[in-house]
Amino acid sequence: MNVHAKPNAPVLDSYWMPFTANRQFKAAPRMLVSAEGMHYTSDDGRRVLDGTAGLWCVNAGHGRREIASAVERQLSALDYAPSFQMGHPVAFDFAERLAAIAPGPEGRKLDRVFFTGSGSESVDTALKIAVAYQRTIGQGTRTRLIGRERGYHGVGFGGISVGGLVNNRRVFPQLPGTDHLRHTHDIARNSFVRGQPEHGAELADDLERLVALHGAETIAACIVEPVAGSTGVLVPPKGYLERLRAICDRHGILLVFDEVITGFGRLGAPFAADHFGVLPDLVTTAKGLTNGALPMGAVFAGRHVHDALMQGPEGAIELFHGYTYSGHPAACAAGIATLDIYESEGLLTRVAAIQEDWHAAIHSLADLPNVVDIRTIGLIAGIELKSRDGAMGARAYDVFVDCFEKGLLIRVTGEIVALSPPLIAETGHIHEMVETLRASIETIR
Ligand code: PMP
Repeated sequence: MNVHAKPNAPVLDSYWMPFTANRQFKAAPRMLVSAEGMHYTSDDGRRVLDGTAGLWCVNAGHGRREIASAVERQLSALDYAPSFQMGHPVAFDFAERLAAIAPGPEGRKLDRVFFTGSGSESVDTALKIAVAYQRTIGQGTRTRLIGRERGYHGVGFGGISVGGLVNNRRVFPQLPGTDHLRHTHDIARNSFVRGQPEHGAELADDLERLVALHGAETIAACIVEPVAGSTGVLVPPKGYLERLRAICDRHGILLVFDEVITGFGRLGAPFAADHFGVLPDLVTTAKGLTNGALPMGAVFAGRHVHDALMQGPEGAIELFHGYTYSGHPAACAAGIATLDIYESEGLLTRVAAIQEDWHAAIHSLADLPNVVDIRTIGLIAGIELKSRDGAMGARAYDVFVDCFEKGLLIRVTGEIVALSPPLIAETGHIHEMVETLRASIETIR
């Protein structure tokens, strides 16, 4: 029996952990038992600074009583109600609140909201909406979905098919008829950049090449993360997203932004679509939607997409799609309480005011010998380390373990350290993160 060696420690055998080296973890577990503000507490009573907002989701910081109380009130009043051919007010209220801050300028906001249970579900939902839309407007041959190398769009079969992470794909079959743009990661031309890199807008022309290869009449949608997060913080070169939008327009392809990470203030605007001034047709979200407190996702759709699908015969179900937990009352209550916090504390735009300090603090690590690149945008950073010979990811993993021991939670992917603290981070927290990282990267050889 695998017992964690601390007082009241749980038995570790039964829980099959996601995206984890289970045997390695269970031999030396790292456990978090409570959280408040910018900090977790570990099971041995240490305070651990949250450098990653959980998994990019706890934007308003931990332990928000307003969310907990709203969920408790909602569960006591109405714990669950079906959303198929039935409604409950809190889902409509939450959708209206989201519509008010939806991506896009006034008058063109993507203000029709489909609820899901996670980011992966949001992605598969958006892809299905795109295909259904094309069929509805008489473009039924458009079923092909275009993603991007090093894209991460969750773990559904749709998401891994448009995604570009080989480890997520190689064991599993994929949707037929997907293809990929190249990624925009190019340290040779863009290194140690604050904000958007100068070079690489022309990589968007890959979509033109795929149109030439497959025929526009086969392509339903193109999905990208405006800033790729999970695969190592890849920031779009200046002009890249604009160019992608123009190519989509030219060829009748829907553009989907996967904003599961960038949504809800991470870049200093409510959505990356606002930050970059590029309006897609569909936006996928999750994570910050409920401050991570309950699982939930939402797809924002433009009215042109939504309204086209509302044209069928009266009484017909317009989209044969949905989840038992779409618009779950407790998750909606958590979401409304989260939006209240974001709005009253100005968190959807706070990053715009603090990002210069963030850039400067993080880029101060550039002098470390094993740091080969640093990328920052909004309140996100990617610090790329030199891999030890033949051991891709080993150095970053050691830094991750060492930082945790030193009281800082970071995230690593390959040799890239990713940071994305809660949006309430103060200068002191940022400097603490940087000092811990410096000490760790200096020690780990
Ligand atoms: N899309 C993006 C851009 C993500 O970052 C993630 C999660 N990291 C997902 C989709 C999947 O979300 P979930 O894990 O909630 O299914």
